[in-house]
Amino acid sequence: MPSASKARPKPTESQWAAVRGSRIHGKGMFATRSIPRGTRIIEYTGERIDKDEGFRREELRRRRAARGGDGCIYTFELNSRTDIDGRVLWNTARYINHSCEPNCESQIVRGRVWIVALRRIDPGEEITYDYYYDYAHYREHPCRCGARKCAGYIVKAPQRWRVRHAAAEAGRKR
Ligand SMILES: [Zn+2]
Repeated sequence: MPSASKARPKPTESQWAAVRGSRIHGKGMFATRSIPRGTRIIEYTGERIDKDEGFRREELRRRRAARGGDGCIYTFELNSRTDIDGRVLWNTARYINHSCEPNCESQIVRGRVWIVALRRIDPGEEITYDYYYDYAHYREHPCRCGARKCAGYIVKAPQRWRVRHAAAEAGRKR
């Protein structure tokens, strides 16, 4: 039997990183100690939803963004049937910012999403990964990651050339 008190899940924690104010955006997660390459730093958790519910929530998100509200995408595609909606208070990994030159990546391991170090990370460094947003609607997601090769928008690495191409085209027409 489930317990009588419907306690909300406790926020996830990492033995490697903690939440602090970020120069990139709002809050971020920062290494609290030296993190070896390949370390699973924290799980990206949330509510498991099917694709129909995923589409419905994406619609809500776009309407919220159009009104000037939070336009961030917290949905993670787990597989062809299931998404994870990480927009829940207990998902501490939702604070991790995108970077165009990230030090982590997201990995799906047996139905769970992990944020994994791509290289050794020093204490105090901000934890980042590529949000892998699609090029479509890229203007809704400006990037302030500060990386030398920042595309100016949050777009998955393989499609960033399209952002640069669009900017060059606009420059030519001016
Ligand atoms: Zn960037």
